Amino acid sequence: MKNHYRVVVIGGGVVGTSVLYHLARLGWTDIALIERSDLTAGSTWHAAAGFHVLNDDPNVAALQSYTIKLYAEIEKESGQSVGMHMPGGYSLATTPARWEWLKAEAAIYETLGIGARLATAEEIVADCPIVDPTGLLGGLFDPHEGALDPHGTTHAFAGAAKKRGADVVLRNRVTALAAQPNGHWRLDTEHGTVTAEHVVNAGGLWARRVGRMVGIDLPLTPMQHHYLITEDLPELIARKNEMPCVTDLEGFTYLQQERKGVLLGVYERNPKHWKTEGAEWDYGMELLPEEIERIGEELSIGFARFPRLQEVGIRKWVNGAFTFTPDGNPLVGPVPGLRNFWAACGCMSGFSQGGAIGLVLANWMVEGDPGADIFGMDVARYGSFASNDKYLRDTTAQFYARRFVIAYPNEELPAGRPLKMTPSYDAQKAAGAVFGVVWGMEAPQYFAHQPDFIEQPSLRRSNAYPIVAAEVAATRAAAGLLDTGVYGRYAVSGPKAAEWLDRLLANRLPPIEKLRLAPMLSPSGKLMGDLTVTCLAHDRFWLVGSYYLQEWHLRWFHDHLPSSGVRIENLSESWLGFSLSGPRSREILARLTRADVSDASLPFLGCRPLDIGLTQAVVARLSLTGELGYEINVPASQQRALWDALLEHGAPLGMKPIGMRAQDSLRLEKGYGVWSLEFAQSYTPAMSGLDRFIAFDKGEFIGRDAALAERAAGPSQRLVLLAIDALDADVTGFEPVSIGAQRVGFITSGAYGHHVKQSLALAYVDRSIAEKPVPLSVHVVGEPRTARILAEPPYDPKGLRLRG
Ligand SMILES: Cc1cc2nc3c(=O)[nH]c(=O)nc-3n(C[C@H](O)[C@H](O)[C@H](O)COP(=O)(O)OP(=O)(O)OC[C@H]3O[C@@H](n4cnc5c(N)ncnc54)[C@H](O)[C@@H]3O)c2cc1C
Repeated sequence: MKNHYRVVVIGGGVVGTSVLYHLARLGWTDIALIERSDLTAGSTWHAAAGFHVLNDDPNVAALQSYTIKLYAEIEKESGQSVGMHMPGGYSLATTPARWEWLKAEAAIYETLGIGARLATAEEIVADCPIVDPTGLLGGLFDPHEGALDPHGTTHAFAGAAKKRGADVVLRNRVTALAAQPNGHWRLDTEHGTVTAEHVVNAGGLWARRVGRMVGIDLPLTPMQHHYLITEDLPELIARKNEMPCVTDLEGFTYLQQERKGVLLGVYERNPKHWKTEGAEWDYGMELLPEEIERIGEELSIGFARFPRLQEVGIRKWVNGAFTFTPDGNPLVGPVPGLRNFWAACGCMSGFSQGGAIGLVLANWMVEGDPGADIFGMDVARYGSFASNDKYLRDTTAQFYARRFVIAYPNEELPAGRPLKMTPSYDAQKAAGAVFGVVWGMEAPQYFAHQPDFIEQPSLRRSNAYPIVAAEVAATRAAAGLLDTGVYGRYAVSGPKAAEWLDRLLANRLPPIEKLRLAPMLSPSGKLMGDLTVTCLAHDRFWLVGSYYLQEWHLRWFHDHLPSSGVRIENLSESWLGFSLSGPRSREILARLTRADVSDASLPFLGCRPLDIGLTQAVVARLSLTGELGYEINVPASQQRALWDALLEHGAPLGMKPIGMRAQDSLRLEKGYGVWSLEFAQSYTPAMSGLDRFIAFDKGEFIGRDAALAERAAGPSQRLVLLAIDALDADVTGFEPVSIGAQRVGFITSGAYGHHVKQSLALAYVDRSIAEKPVPLSVHVVGEPRTARILAEPPYDPKGLRLRG
């Protein structure tokens, strides 16, 4: 071990070694991995080491695909076998709902070009004769499913990294970490002190403890997991080729061939945490005692699906621990608030994701950009609320127990709720609000009006459909009132505030008491935000974005902040408000203030401080519904008073409280995109149409060169609005868009346009298609439907109502 490295990776599991390898591959060779014990000594050594491409987040699925392709490469490079078997795998459908869901998923995987295909029950049984066909309707075959040797894989990553010049230091625990005045880190280890420019926490089962060394509390926690390995099965002894893996989604079990027997793993509905803070420092390569009774119910379902297992002995039980985060995806990237301290932990699926984590982290460190949209894995997707003990235990247990349960797009899960509520939560609840959750904040989805209303989880239009229709109708006819608790708000002030914002944002800054839509770009010209910027005074601005992006945006802001002259304050918890929109919204506003709110005094994209009822509000004139509208922002403590005042004066004029579902319908009727669906890190201004909000002639700003180059070359894909001849369901996202058998794009979001009476969607399609509209086909819940590109939004294409 040297006494200084450019990077030290803490932890020699499959993730840490992958990070080391990818850094070396990008040419950073002054790097070391420091491991407390031996390589694989955490979760890695006793993993079932199965891998697959399929993931609920298509961006993560694409990265999993990368991981799997990498194995042959590291095997070759290191000369160490990874013990890879890839017979493919079936996910079984044994209920009609599951079969429908798998068909819809299969269509989505087409978008990713993964090559998953549907299989009949007969095909599955012919391929996997130990599967009992009772109730089997079919399945989804993923050709990229298989298993590895966890020891060989980890040593292959480490060996390949060492060949490129990296150091691997074993049996040496990092005991303390301290930030140095020069921005470097000092690492105290059992065998001496070392300094490093960058530190990566790949501490796996100990990652939370490693985080505590630098004063952070990462939202990850270990949970127990069982699998068993059987004695040899005659069917497998007789077989020449390896049997594909099988996941019995309704049965909570997965199975893979292990020599001539099988490995059967269980995701039980009654999961158990283990050492919430992380393993003890002296925890060895030990198994936990098996708890067969606790997983008994799922095991009996598994044994019924694979009845031959009842006739052979069990060679080995494994109960081990690995870490989970609230959404099951890892924590990757620069940790907000710390300089050059990186997370590569919280990974429950190291053999599907380890390679990708190494790739994006190394890209990010070396090139300054992860190279892909990895928000679904980004450590900054959570705030400190997620590390609360009960929140973490409840959400991770929910994720674990639902690992194989269908996730419906209209379903709101209960764990960790309610946590954050706006002051009008109770009043909205009394008015019938059914809440969803955004970053811990309760957000109304719709107002049900019947106290016993229960929405059926469904891939099709649910029983909430008429409720949402009524909210859309009220907004188009009179006014709708939507809680904007899910906005992120930031005050930017100081003598250099204007200069700094002008460089950060791609649009020109607005004059005083005006606002503008302002894309924010990365140096490579990718979208980093779709903010609105408001000028309140020459040295005071507001930025408004998405509530759940707070840590992510603040990390970006702080990374680009000058040493003095600009102050950023996060107002997201201290300022709240409502969006009031609809043809009667001005009339309603006028009843609540003696100020002049006429178009002349408060024009479109104007913004003014106003007394609204008893509240001291900042009122901005814009809306996402396409109607005349106002975003009324107030100090959090006044939000309840604002609700009361708006209801008192708005309801008699036909105003109704509305939820996010109505807003989705309304925005799609106008063809408006939103962040994470239409606008995201993997898209560019010209693709998304946000280039119309870029002031190319204003001088230097971050991402200008890349955006100019893209404008000159033209984007390969463009965002378009589609009308779909759907029946009783609408698209949700990532369904393929095709012309005949040729895939030409994919959906970003969809909803039924209740006012225009048309199923609508936004989609990225090849530029040639966007420019020459032709009849298209879109999969809706797995069934092809005809679709066409709309040249203009079906509602108020000239924007007259918005400006009215
Ligand atoms: C029973 C079981 C079945 C599983 N099945 C699968 C599966 O089929 N497919 C799949 O993809 N995943 C599976 N997993 C999960 C998989 O094992 C993990 O996702 C993966 O091993 C995580 O790797 P890691 O490198 O992040 O962490 P770990 O393997 O825990 O490695 C962390 C390393 O950091 C070291 N370390 C920690 N703190 C320090 C310190 N202060 N100083 C020095 N070193 C330190 C530790 O000693 C350890 O070696 C399974 C896990 C178990 C237990």
